Amino acid sequence: MRQLSYRGGGALAVDEVPVPAPGPGEVRVRVHSVGLCTSDVYGYAQVNDRRDVVLGAGDVLVMGHEAVGTVEAQGGGVDGPAVGAIVAVNPIAGCRTCARCGAGLENLCERRTVYGCTPAAPGAYADTITVPAANAHPLPAGVPVEWGALVEPLTVGFHGVRLADPPPGASVLVVGGGIIGLGAALAARRRVGEQVLVLEPRPERRAVCAALGLQAVPPGDVLGTRHRFDLALDCVARPETFAGAVEAVGAGGEVVLVGIWADEIPLPVSLVVGRETRIRGSYGYSQADFADVAAWIGESGIDLAPIIERRVGFDELIGAFEAYADGSLTAVRTLLQPAR
Ligand SMILES: [Zn+2]
Ligand SMILES: [Zn+2]
Repeated sequence: MRQLSYRGGGALAVDEVPVPAPGPGEVRVRVHSVGLCTSDVYGYAQVNDRRDVVLGAGDVLVMGHEAVGTVEAQGGGVDGPAVGAIVAVNPIAGCRTCARCGAGLENLCERRTVYGCTPAAPGAYADTITVPAANAHPLPAGVPVEWGALVEPLTVGFHGVRLADPPPGASVLVVGGGIIGLGAALAARRRVGEQVLVLEPRPERRAVCAALGLQAVPPGDVLGTRHRFDLALDCVARPETFAGAVEAVGAGGEVVLVGIWADEIPLPVSLVVGRETRIRGSYGYSQADFADVAAWIGESGIDLAPIIERRVGFDELIGAFEAYADGSLTAVRTLLQPAR
């Protein structure tokens, strides 16, 4: 089978490798679609060292953690999902034995494995991906298969909203109209109703929001005004977006940081203290969050097609990475579809 091999320092290559046999408790999934994630692009383009730091001498990293496909083989002891089932793949696998895993906090398990982020757990920029059967979540019947590749990134935003748990009628600001922000906004709207506003500077991204029925405005329409919200989700987490989110939340409100841009950003401490603002981080998601979103895309009635703006085969894959890195490709999501 083919895989996109990352050897560090920006070196990508499509290699032919043997098809792995699933081990006990695992399933092998034939990849239908996998989303190109900005975190992979940033790592490849050396914006940060998150994809290089995991590589030892001679190691190969197969990235790609936003996959959907068809189960084609089961390892020993697997009683589902069945061969032939269409599944969205949750790349975060907890150890399943620690207290956090027992409490449904697999994202905080100290021994978690994230497929596509470590050489020991190859990701889905490949013809197949092999993962624990428990991490293969069946897609509801009738949902376009490629939408399954959106479950992972949307769930990141859904998790941030679940942590904040805004009540019906609360006002929610989502900073950033990328796919994480879209997930946060869709999740917020499900809980609070229509009082959800997305801040997004790029007109083409505001158009995607509008296509999903979300209200989106340029940052200047809110920041620097007296407009206040009960909750803000910063899905960009640059110094200016975080400062804006803190400013836009009223007394007793909450800011959730869903993204990471840099390891450290300034804290507007006088505003935070004076308004008793709660600030919390949100990392990944749990198995329950993932299953919730996989089910939600089948019952929401929302057309997610506008999020998928480009599809490529293996022959165009490295070019797509290069185009994201140099800014000439700005699609909210590009999917690798190996069969193309
Ligand atoms: Zn991602
Ligand atoms: Zn654990």
